[in-house]
Amino acid sequence: MEKQTRGYKAHVLVIPFPAQGHINPMLQFSKRLLSKGIKPTFANTVYISKSMHGADAACSIALATISDGYDDGGHAQAESPETYLAKFEEVGSRTLASLIKELVDVGQPVDAVIYDGFLPWALDVAKEFGLVGVAFFTQSCAVNNIYYHVQRGILPVPLSGSPVLVPGLPPLEPWETPSYVHDHGAYPGFVHMVLNQFCNIEKADWVLFTVFYKLEEEVLDWMSKLWRVRAIGPTLPSMYVDKRLQDDKDYGINLFKPHSAACMDWLNQKPPGSVVYVSFGSMADLDSEQMEEVAWGLDQSNYSFLWVVRASEQAKLPKDFEKSEKGLVVAWSPQLEVLSHESMGCFVTHCGLNSVYEALSLGVAMVAVPLWTDQTTNAKYVEDVWGVGIRAGKDEKGVVRREVLEHCLREVMEGERGKRIKENSAKWKRLAIEAVSEGGSSEKNVDELVDFLQNLNTSF
Ligand code: UDP
Repeated sequence: MEKQTRGYKAHVLVIPFPAQGHINPMLQFSKRLLSKGIKPTFANTVYISKSMHGADAACSIALATISDGYDDGGHAQAESPETYLAKFEEVGSRTLASLIKELVDVGQPVDAVIYDGFLPWALDVAKEFGLVGVAFFTQSCAVNNIYYHVQRGILPVPLSGSPVLVPGLPPLEPWETPSYVHDHGAYPGFVHMVLNQFCNIEKADWVLFTVFYKLEEEVLDWMSKLWRVRAIGPTLPSMYVDKRLQDDKDYGINLFKPHSAACMDWLNQKPPGSVVYVSFGSMADLDSEQMEEVAWGLDQSNYSFLWVVRASEQAKLPKDFEKSEKGLVVAWSPQLEVLSHESMGCFVTHCGLNSVYEALSLGVAMVAVPLWTDQTTNAKYVEDVWGVGIRAGKDEKGVVRREVLEHCLREVMEGERGKRIKENSAKWKRLAIEAVSEGGSSEKNVDELVDFLQNLNTSF
């Protein structure tokens, strides 16, 4: 079928890894493509499609499903991460191929597959059908360049000595590399997943990152020598950055139900710049000791705080903590609304990349409490490269103590260092908005991809 008669420039199939922090940026990117005349079909796993709240908001995007082999419980049903990932590859490849065929059968053939870097088998499937393959990385360029160097054997693991030197990155202490690298033996399934992202990357026609150029200039330049790399971020809903897509106010797919009214009513009563927002994202599993230290650190600091503690984590809160009148604890928040509220003072974050980019794009200073995976490297960038926050130091047991947290909060909220951090945050906010606005670097990159897709000579 001729593309002109289809009513869109090209049809892309978007395949995220089934986790909130992966769905959000890929869904946002799909919305951008849609606004430029590309038809995206967004394929979650069956389990995610059953679990999501508020998908109505994402309705402008066609939804489809593939299977990870665990349709009733997702990864929680698998014996181990290794088992889950192997099954996902096997069943995912098969169901993705079926979906591509089904779309041909209903007269909506796909021109390209945009796949999460964690799922390199999707690129193999795309290539079996002769389709364009676009890798979409939801972790930073720095983190991925470290993984690339490990995967190619250029950076041997276990790491030996310090500093760790990787092109385009500042010298790193071993503990500042992702935990999968500096604690290499601890997570075999996940290590395989992050390194395997590069097993077939040479076959990808495009390699996209959710960063924007100025944020990781040097490493982007270095990677551009290897692949057709483009930075297309930040991938926040338009109304939080360039404000050109009036209906784009939310990510649209929530795996947890946000307590929006409770959060916003509470924040509305707080003075500007006075609130500490705390969230460790959608997956973190803090031990009880760390939970207790965070709780009493917040309490002792005397700032008003809004703390997201997922339902599965709430039993770890100290018993008498509920009496704290300074805080509100919710199971899930509308994070973008919270971070952009005028009462926001700072963000205590685990440094998941989405949270970091959200804070950076909305000009919110951070206190970094990284736990594992890429968060340790993201935290390094937050403090030392972008100057938008400080890292809370851990003791020999790996726990951030209450006094340390309290001290960091005072520094960021009221200290001299906090002033410089806030100036940097304002600068990066301006640059983030610039990147995705008309004529900005990310906008140009999206347009280049759109032109490429439009001019493809696919014939079905
Ligand atoms: N988020 C949210 N409400 C919350 C906590 C998190 O909407 O209470 C969103 C947040 O805005 C971000 C995503 O969930 O887009 C978490 O992704 P991130 O990469 O920060 O961390 P992960 O969950 O992958 O560890």
